Amino acid sequence: MLEIVLATANPGKITEIVDIMAGLPVSFVTRDQMPPWPEIVESGDTYLENALIKARALVEFSGKPAIADDSGIEIDALEGAPGVRSARFAGSEASDEDNNHRMAELLAGVPAEKRTARYRCVAVLVLPDGTVLDAEGTCEGRIALAPEGDNGFGYDPWFIPAEQPEGQNLTFGLLPLDFKHLISHRGKALRKLAEKMGTLGLT
Ligand code: IMP
Repeated sequence: MLEIVLATANPGKITEIVDIMAGLPVSFVTRDQMPPWPEIVESGDTYLENALIKARALVEFSGKPAIADDSGIEIDALEGAPGVRSARFAGSEASDEDNNHRMAELLAGVPAEKRTARYRCVAVLVLPDGTVLDAEGTCEGRIALAPEGDNGFGYDPWFIPAEQPEGQNLTFGLLPLDFKHLISHRGKALRKLAEKMGTLGLT
């Protein structure tokens, strides 16, 4: 079975990537199963650049194929911010709570109809011979007036996806994770990546 390193330290992302790719004939090696990683600086200006920085660093470190996801939330009332800087919106050491707090402050007074936003995810697989596969997914929605629920991670308590189970209007913080996977930016990007892996005979 193909062993793939997951080039992320984010526990929310690890859970989601493993769940979404569960049906594939691959096994994942996560950070806690490896020697301490070298420091990786996400210095790119795009999701693709940052995903490649992370995956290439882990291929070099481990000698194994690596998958990385770079993602973020793009808020129209903030001209697309925080985007590629979503993890560091409130500073380089910011927690999810810090980032959510900053977003809530900046959106104070913005009415519901102007709180449109989307999540975007670029997923890459890098092989030890340098081969790169990449795929992108987006998930449209809007920012709630107040956070609700603990499911998911990051901005999820604030994000109401446009696609909902029949008759609902819930944040990702309240929606079940398996529903999130069906419609999320990460679900879409990783399923496309899996298809491309299939065409290379990797899955
Ligand atoms: P990075 O890809 O590691 O630079 O970080 C992505 C950041 O975007 C996360 O730390 C979250 O703040 C945000 N983000 C990306 N995907 C999601 C998601 O599915 N739910 C909530 N927040 C997300």
